[in-house]
Amino acid sequence: MQNEITERVFYLRERIAVAAACAGRSPDEITLVGVSKRHSSESVRAAWDAGVREFGENYIQEARDKCAQLGELPGLRWHLIGGLQSNKARLAVALFDVVQTVDRLSLAQVLSREAEKQEKELAVLVEVNLAGQENRAGVAEPEALALCEQVAALPNLRLCGLMGMAPLRADAEAIRPHFARLRHLYEALPEANRRVLSMGMSGDFEAAIAEGANLVRIGTALFGQRPSVSTT
Ligand SMILES: *Cc1c(COP(=O)(O)O)cnc(C)c1O
Repeated sequence: MQNEITERVFYLRERIAVAAACAGRSPDEITLVGVSKRHSSESVRAAWDAGVREFGENYIQEARDKCAQLGELPGLRWHLIGGLQSNKARLAVALFDVVQTVDRLSLAQVLSREAEKQEKELAVLVEVNLAGQENRAGVAEPEALALCEQVAALPNLRLCGLMGMAPLRADAEAIRPHFARLRHLYEALPEANRRVLSMGMSGDFEAAIAEGANLVRIGTALFGQRPSVSTT
């Protein structure tokens, strides 16, 4: 497994470097987040050994198990990339370094209060719905900037940018306008909130990099096909 994952990380970094070069950008600008949902802690450790430091998880319970098993790995940072219910905010604040899925003010307020209690500053991204009816996650595009302003004003949260997912069935060229719209929203944020533009997954990260992504969330192309049931 180690060799396979090391090879995939190497190949992915090549593809990221080529996509960055094509866009006239440096590959150093682009953070690779390994999406480890439904993959084992051993897979995460193998990717860490291959130099990956940022990991994305979708489910709180699964993340809690992996944090317990891997908490000691130096430099490892966890991103929550799945939808969050307010009643799990306490655990989310305790487990994650970045919450990428803030899509409503009520959730941001709960996270802010929890972060205050836990004496943490939590990095957050606002998730924007780029897929319309196909996907209910994310704030609607016309409301995104207003939500960002409200989130940025809350104590103990640091608004770092935006996250979005293109519609899943579109082909690579059809996807680019969705990423371009997210970039335009990102460019409208105040400078202090423009750190992270999270877009692009295994099937479309090159298009996302061409449109300005500086964080890509890669699961399948790094860890292989996801098992259908949890391995932890
Ligand atoms: C699962 C997931 C990914 C990774 O998807 P792959 O196609 O396996 O790379 C990225 N982002 C989010 C929000 C996800 O839920």
